[in-house]
Amino acid sequence: MNLNQLTARQLQKKLDAKEIKPQEIISSLKQRLAESEEKVRAYVSGADFSSIPDEGLPVAIKDNICTKGLNTQCCSKILKDFKPPYDATVIKKIKEAGLSVQSAKTNMDEFAFGSSTENSFFGATHNPWDIERVPGGSSGGSAAAVAADEAIWALGSDTGGSIRQPASFCGVVGLKPTYGRVSRYGLIAFASSLDQIGPITKDVADSAWLAKIISGHDIQDATAVDIPVPDYTKALVKDVKGIKIGVPEEYFVEGLDEEVKEHILQAIELLKKLGATVKKVKLPHTQYALPVYYIIATAEASSNLARFDGVEYGFRTDSKGQSLIDMYEETRGEGFGSEAKRRIILGTYVLSHGYYEAYYLRAQKVRTLIKNDFDAVFKEFDCILTPTSPTPAFKIGEKAANPLNMYLSDIYTIPANLAGIPAISLPCGLTKKRLPVGLQILTKAFDEETLFRIAYTYEQNTSWHLEKPKL
Ligand code: GLN
Repeated sequence: MNLNQLTARQLQKKLDAKEIKPQEIISSLKQRLAESEEKVRAYVSGADFSSIPDEGLPVAIKDNICTKGLNTQCCSKILKDFKPPYDATVIKKIKEAGLSVQSAKTNMDEFAFGSSTENSFFGATHNPWDIERVPGGSSGGSAAAVAADEAIWALGSDTGGSIRQPASFCGVVGLKPTYGRVSRYGLIAFASSLDQIGPITKDVADSAWLAKIISGHDIQDATAVDIPVPDYTKALVKDVKGIKIGVPEEYFVEGLDEEVKEHILQAIELLKKLGATVKKVKLPHTQYALPVYYIIATAEASSNLARFDGVEYGFRTDSKGQSLIDMYEETRGEGFGSEAKRRIILGTYVLSHGYYEAYYLRAQKVRTLIKNDFDAVFKEFDCILTPTSPTPAFKIGEKAANPLNMYLSDIYTIPANLAGIPAISLPCGLTKKRLPVGLQILTKAFDEETLFRIAYTYEQNTSWHLEKPKL
């Protein structure tokens, strides 16, 4: 195996034993990039690979996480060539831990709006398992880079599934931490009450390690909770005896692909054999998660995106309008892509006078009911197990013309964001066409340790995480 194919932990062991030098990791990554990046396009086009720093293990970073002096464009024209004057807290923590930050940022749907990475100003990313298919989204670039061994590991962001769904489509491990576990300072906001940064890695051990590095209190983000961060690597225990698993009925309904279902049922059987008990549970408000999400997420997005007006950041129109309002309108008209505009319009509508109570406020109330469903289950159960996505990766272009159809691909991931709880996706099978299937595990808030323990036990008793795409 080449160095770029190893996990971060495997590489760190070799570095510690002085068997290899960091430069050797970088050169094997660069060699891989030269072979496969033209097909995969995991990175923002025009990205500069020559300057991967050659100290410490490099981490690939999604284009919406601020990196001082490095392009951070949210894959939008409106942030074209924006270079933040500061590092996001997660970037600071990565550097303090002795890791390095790749200068090339990973591709994403514009402002993280999407499930396929097709909404990028820089063009689509291709799934390494089948380059005619999408890698998922919005962190599709990070997931594809890790799956194609073009990165050792990566950071993504997850507002409604944007780490877990692409991890599932690309056969890698994606974690959305508990809301408040990881600082959002320097993450360009999509929906502030839902966004979390998390790791995308080749296995569960790397996920636990990177999660530990980026987690913790931060005075720059009032929602980053001031409670100690456990050493997640200590939770990597191969044992699920006595663990109580709930499987929600509402997730095994029409729309779930037969092959995906089969693999999830097999995973459940395996965990039973390993000593866990499994019972059906009810999450009765599941059917409202999608509409509630698309009200709250667009409302918050419309407010967060108001700052992009041609004055402070990035792009400004060339056209010489009559007034300041003309300049705002033309900048935003030219700078945002169509999905961003759709969401700004929808979000502005649900927040507007006369509709606020009917839509936004009501959605917030239903959000509480969804959270209560989870709280009730976690009184009795240690975790909930579901598919990550109802289907494997779909074809590029297949859903692009139908936004509503696209929104459905997040039906299993969105509830965790609404409830604020942690969730992980890990590989649990390949379809007959050799497309990866993801298993999602959810636990109660701030119980990432149980999450890692169950995920690790499952992974270490299977070999799905060792499969590689034939690119
Ligand atoms: N696909 C979902 C959306 O389009 C979630 C995106 C995300 O998690 N950033 O909103």
